[in-house]
Amino acid sequence: MKTKTLLPAAIIVLTFISTIAFSQEKEKEQRIILINARLIDGTGADPAENVNIIIRGTRFEKISSGRVYQAEKDKVIDLEGRTVLPGLIDAHFHMNYPDFSDRPPLLNEAICAYRSVPYLYNHLMSGITTIFDAGGYKATTIMAKKAFNEGYITGSRPVVCGERINGTGGHGVSRFDMATEVDGAHEFRKAVRQQLYAGADIIKILPPYSQAELEAAIEETHLQQKRVAVHSGIYNKQYQFVRWAAAMGADIIMHAYALPDDVIYEMGMKGIYSVPTMTIMMKNQLRDRFTPDNKEAHEYEIIFRKLKDAGVKMAIGTDALYDFMKENPALYFLEVERFVKNGYTEMEAIEAATRIGAEALGIENRLGTVKAGKTADLIVVDGDPLSDISELRNVIRVMQNGRFVK
Ligand SMILES: [Zn+2]
Repeated sequence: MKTKTLLPAAIIVLTFISTIAFSQEKEKEQRIILINARLIDGTGADPAENVNIIIRGTRFEKISSGRVYQAEKDKVIDLEGRTVLPGLIDAHFHMNYPDFSDRPPLLNEAICAYRSVPYLYNHLMSGITTIFDAGGYKATTIMAKKAFNEGYITGSRPVVCGERINGTGGHGVSRFDMATEVDGAHEFRKAVRQQLYAGADIIKILPPYSQAELEAAIEETHLQQKRVAVHSGIYNKQYQFVRWAAAMGADIIMHAYALPDDVIYEMGMKGIYSVPTMTIMMKNQLRDRFTPDNKEAHEYEIIFRKLKDAGVKMAIGTDALYDFMKENPALYFLEVERFVKNGYTEMEAIEAATRIGAEALGIENRLGTVKAGKTADLIVVDGDPLSDISELRNVIRVMQNGRFVK
């Protein structure tokens, strides 16, 4: 009889004690409180003045206005009205492509890993707190993600596809070996399974592929609840590849290139994301085949405008390769500015660089906006990017995972 009455009481006492212990543990954690911020939160809402942003651990705890309670140990930073935005996202990056000076290309795991470190670091210092690596050498990008998670790398947070998948002789191996070559639906499906098992976040498919091969790859990826990014085309205008991609449910189509009108329409209807990467393609074209005043160089901007008119959601991606790696991260800001030049408002370009990038990569429930509960990634800029988008280049502070890294 006695134990019967004591047991519930004991449970209540224990629960009470553990609640105290938990809240004491929480209290010990130092909060960072940013006061007097002008917040552009990434949702497209008008900027809010005089905002407090409270960060606890790796997350945003609260966004508020008015007076804020400050504990003695809290670190309070007065931003004096400066603009805060979510950490930027580069939705198409290659962390370990060699640059042109590297001939013949030296490819092995060690050199690719070393190359990745400064590229990721430079991106982070420019305010790009997350990248999608759209194809690297063997497992090096998956290992970079692991190294980042274990704290060995200070750099942009890697979201990775591991090795790209294409048919024999495809786009990923045409210059040097940076893709898995497989043939037949069975091999495409197996390659998807291998990449996901190894730790890829997203599957990237490049032409050539047959309809059956792509269907198997997309089906397998979606069964494992991951997203598929497909490269738009090669061999100039072989539209069939991208038609199959749109028809069979690709989640992202990379590059505003080789996209016929019917595919653009379908992308808008189905909510397939685009990462147009106009800047790198125009630079490539100018270098290889065209003079700067050649009209051909603007072909990509025409496709971009069609994508916009069709309501296709677009994210910012640099796709810097070879010698353009040296120009990074400036390419990122050139691409943002090109969005504005081609009809985006400054606010829409900011959304493309933050929330839309997160949506395209399927990480929108933790990144891309400054909201309570989300991972605390933010940047502070000196000027007003809503009146001049190039002010995004002047990042004075960068926070990633709740820690100021700049
Ligand atoms: Zn690429």
